[in-house]
Amino acid sequence: MATDKPLNLLDLDRQAMEDYFVRLGVKPFHGRNVLKWIHKHGVTDFAQMTDLSKKLRATLGARAVIRLPQIILRQPSADGTVKWVMELEDGQRVETVYIPDGNRSTVCVSSQVGCALDCSFCSTAKQGFNRNLTTGEIIGQVWHATRQMGRAPTNVVLMGMGEPLANFDAVVSAMDLMQDDLTYMLSKYRVTISTSGIVPNLYRLREVSDVSLAVSLHAPDNDLRDQLVPINRKYPLEELIPACRKFVKNDKRRKVTWEYVMLDGINDSIAHAKALIRLLEGTPSKMNLIPFNPFPGTDYKSSPPERIEAFRQKLMKAGIMAILRKTRGDDIDAACGQLVGRVQDRSGRREVSLRRAQAEKVA
Ligand code: SAH
Repeated sequence: MATDKPLNLLDLDRQAMEDYFVRLGVKPFHGRNVLKWIHKHGVTDFAQMTDLSKKLRATLGARAVIRLPQIILRQPSADGTVKWVMELEDGQRVETVYIPDGNRSTVCVSSQVGCALDCSFCSTAKQGFNRNLTTGEIIGQVWHATRQMGRAPTNVVLMGMGEPLANFDAVVSAMDLMQDDLTYMLSKYRVTISTSGIVPNLYRLREVSDVSLAVSLHAPDNDLRDQLVPINRKYPLEELIPACRKFVKNDKRRKVTWEYVMLDGINDSIAHAKALIRLLEGTPSKMNLIPFNPFPGTDYKSSPPERIEAFRQKLMKAGIMAILRKTRGDDIDAACGQLVGRVQDRSGRREVSLRRAQAEKVA
């Protein structure tokens, strides 16, 4: 139909691209060529795809587009980190962060506009939730980072705005694209999905994708985790931990990376460390301790460095590899939990939190 919206080829992983070219009546390898033009060479103009026939280029020009998010702001940090604000077709905005570290470079991508999970210490949560990103909007962030930096990153982490396992299909396709030989060629150990623990989707993910797993733990028991990461009320620790253990089970090189934000006086005592050690017994684990990154309106404070170090030592002595995640890009609000973009909230939460703030002011 002439009124059909043109297909955005950025939404297609290899399989979908091959299927599309078959539907056009040509051989699937043309689809692989197009994938390579877009992602390996950064070409988004069909006219420049010189190994396709003129006729095929004309067909594509008439029926398809290659539409990227637009970079509307580039903010470099003093430590080399760069944050880009990207605007999507409907005017929503998300943020993407590039983190250089010696020979390595990590791109931290967003998977949703806002987030629906409402973790109490995260500023993305305070923005509310609008919608899932498409595959093209997720891989488009990697596309831009590659062009901006002149080469593909060595690592991609789905640790930006949003809960990736709440946007399952688009995230899986985008992660497939990151690992494809025709595109960014990242190994399965260098693509990491971070989740707050949507347990059924962890099991599903294991069936269709083999990537590295990071889990936002933040507390050693259900009482505390219920408060900090409310999705815990739906998927408590006794369900989450076995799901994570199963995820890494078949690969001896794999460990679960646990993320643990250090909140002053909340989850940072030696008793908490001991409870964590008990909780993780039998699960191949690596612990990433993250100093809390403040944002306007929060009452939380980061634990002092000595307490973080004592906590880390306690875990290390029990044989759990624990590292302090360096805070990167906090001068440009690019650190963990500081990404906000521009979200037209549809969950109603933003209004609630504004009302609450007002009520607190009055009280
Ligand atoms: N929704 C996914 C992806 C976000 S990853 C998840 O929950 O895993 C970003 C990491 O930073 C998560 O572990 C998150 O809990 C953590 N984080 C959120 N707010 C933070 C803050 N203010 N300071 C430090 N870490 C924070």
